[in-house]
Amino acid sequence: MAEPSLPSPAPGMPVAGRPAAHARAPTTLDTGPGGLPTCPYCHGPRGPGLFCTSCDRFNRNPNNPVIVANRLRRLGGYLLESVLFIITLGIGWLIWLAITAPRAQTPAKSLLSMYIVGEDGSPVSARKVWIREVLVKWILLGITAAIFSGLVHLANALWILFDRDRQTIHDKVVGTVIFYAPDGLDPPPRVGDRPARAPQEELDSLARARDNGEITVYEYEERRQRLLERRGAAAPNLS
Ligand SMILES: [Zn+2]
Repeated sequence: MAEPSLPSPAPGMPVAGRPAAHARAPTTLDTGPGGLPTCPYCHGPRGPGLFCTSCDRFNRNPNNPVIVANRLRRLGGYLLESVLFIITLGIGWLIWLAITAPRAQTPAKSLLSMYIVGEDGSPVSARKVWIREVLVKWILLGITAAIFSGLVHLANALWILFDRDRQTIHDKVVGTVIFYAPDGLDPPPRVGDRPARAPQEELDSLARARDNGEITVYEYEERRQRLLERRGAAAPNLS
C-alpha cells in the first residue's frame, strides 16, 4: 500500500546519512539569568516539561517548528474520534485507523493535523498506534470504567486540561505526546517562519538584560550573534 512519506526519525533529529532539519544542533542546556533554563528558540523560560512553556516547541529540539498540540485541539480530537467511531459504526473507523496508523495518526488526528510521537520526539510505529488506541484506550480503560465508573473516560479526556505536557492517561501509559504539525512532522525551512518574538524585540530585550547586569557583555555578544544568524537563516532574502 502506498503511504504518504513520513520521516521515521525524530523530527529534525540527526539521522545517519541525512543532515538534521534546520541544521543547528539543539542547545537545550542554555540557561538564562539565575541559571533558569532558557529556550534557545524564543529565549523565554522553557520550564521543566517536554515543551517550552513560552513557545510550545519541543524542548529536546526547539529548532523544529513543530509544536505541542494545544489543549482545545486535543480535546476536540478526543471528541471527534468518538463521533467518527459512532458514525462509521466502528468498522469504518478501524479500517481508517489501518490507513492512518503508519503515519502515526488516528482518523481524528489526521483531520486535525496531529501526530503521535514518543517522549523522545520520534513518531510512533503503527503497532504502537494500535496498542495506544485499541488496547489501552478502549480495552484497558474500558475495563477500568466498567469496574469503577464511566467517569474514567471523562477523567481521561479532562486530564489534557491540567497535565503539564497535555497528555491523557492513555498517553502516560504508553509514553506518548501529541504534536501539531500542519505541514507534516519534518517540514522544510520556510522563508517567513518567524520566531515567537520579533527579532528586534528579542535584540532589545537582550540589550536590556546586558544593561541590567543580568548577562555579561560576552554573553550578550554571543547571543546577539546567534539571533542574527537565525534571522539570516529564516529570511535569506533580506540583506
Ligand atoms: Zn520557547
